[in-house]
Amino acid sequence: MTAIRHAAIVGSGPSGFYAAEALLNALPDIVIDMFERLPTPYGLVRSGVAPDHPKLKQVTLVFDKIMQSKRLNFLGNVEIGTDLSLDALRDAYDVVVLAYGASTDRKMGIRGEELENSHSATEFVGWYNGHPDFRDCKFDLSQEVAVVVGHGNVAADVSRILLQPCDNLRHTDIAAHALEVLAESRIREVHLVGRRGPVQAKFTSRELRGLGSIPQCVVVAHGDAVPVNPACEAELADRTNLNALQNVEFFRGLRGTVSKDASRKLVFHFCVSPERLDGEAGRVKRAVFRRTTLHGQPFEQAAVPTEELFAIDCGLVLSSIGYWGQPLEGLPFDFRRGIVPNRKGRVECSGAPVDGLYVTGWLKRGPTGIIGTNRADSIETVQQILDDLPRRAPRVRGRRQLLLDSLSLRNIRAVGLHDWLAIDVAERAGGMKAGKPREKLTRVTEMIDLVTRNVREAPDCCCASAG
Ligand code: NAP
Repeated sequence: MTAIRHAAIVGSGPSGFYAAEALLNALPDIVIDMFERLPTPYGLVRSGVAPDHPKLKQVTLVFDKIMQSKRLNFLGNVEIGTDLSLDALRDAYDVVVLAYGASTDRKMGIRGEELENSHSATEFVGWYNGHPDFRDCKFDLSQEVAVVVGHGNVAADVSRILLQPCDNLRHTDIAAHALEVLAESRIREVHLVGRRGPVQAKFTSRELRGLGSIPQCVVVAHGDAVPVNPACEAELADRTNLNALQNVEFFRGLRGTVSKDASRKLVFHFCVSPERLDGEAGRVKRAVFRRTTLHGQPFEQAAVPTEELFAIDCGLVLSSIGYWGQPLEGLPFDFRRGIVPNRKGRVECSGAPVDGLYVTGWLKRGPTGIIGTNRADSIETVQQILDDLPRRAPRVRGRRQLLLDSLSLRNIRAVGLHDWLAIDVAERAGGMKAGKPREKLTRVTEMIDLVTRNVREAPDCCCASAG
């Protein structure tokens, strides 16, 4: 018999599911409650992965299997920090694993960022993926020229969605409200701007190649410039840096590629850093950048500003410069890095481990890596839990049940597996009518109405229970 009977996992994205899998495999007695703020599981696999990348979403089949375990209770629509405090959770569970990711975006911190038609990529991605938080965002795609700031995979996704012929998206799970707006889009030119060079761009080469194959879209590097200095050459010579080499080959191959029937254009800019956004009548009219040069040792090169400014006239700006984690009351937090301080997943406060509290995923290491990166990351965190087992005293029994009961007493409708399956069935049925894999429900109220109706009509079915 282990000292751990009940674990809480906060967040149901990839890192949460991989932590659950590792815990279920290692501890045959454990029962896990997986708390999720939304009524739907899968985190960024549902609301971050681009709709035209269905293969990446197939990982949900793995998560579904984990969810089917009788020792895992999905408790959606329960927000830790609002509906339940972290302290209450720590009091009720032997172990708490934080896996709620990095939900906000970094800000450019420049003048004009607050102008109309200047948004973060996080908002745009959430909007086209039907995330309830972004359901009512408005994007003015009546503009012809857009600027996307940042050279990472999210910037690649949003640029592709902006330039892709809308017909290519019709049969994806893109949110209906976004498809409607994208169908009327007049965006013809996207400028994809990075503060460092082609060697330092963070696109994975696969995503970059995807940008090169958008129908009727010509792709160029601004001024045919693909700047590579001696330190960059040293970076490219490193055998572990194959991705950068492939990226640079892609950029060099762009020179002179002009297609006559291209109606859309993607322009890469290197070594330009956002300086300010100029507006007219409160709306973005121009993005002003400062040219930079690269300085430093290979792999440590920083973008150093020069005197030279450079402007792009545009009507839409999306800043895609990374995500940022959020603190919870009572949780140690590294505000400099936007993560929870930890050693291999064991949460630390002033260098000392915090009893029973662990972290995994983007909240542990920052917003880096692909979906699969989270598996090894969560296994590492669970290993710390297992290592700590001999030192653990079990929590007082019964507090977990009191905590779960307190939800319904306060009219908080926890969404269980059965409820989620009802949402899933409804979305798939909606999708079938529209020729899509699913038509996502995009408002929490409609999801809760649906599951409430579903239980009323099938009273013998069980809801989220303590297990
Ligand atoms: P990212 O890969 O970290 O890229 C952020 C970009 O923003 C970098 O080019 C960075 O430049 C730039 N940047 C940061 N601060 C800046 C500033 N103040 N001014 C100007 N530029 C700035 O972040 P991401 O694109 O948000 O992606 C997050 C993670 O999700 C990544 O690991 C990514 O691979 C993953 N992802 C994967 C996929 C996929 O596999 N299909 C899709 C989407 C996202 P510096 O390098 O100079 O800092």
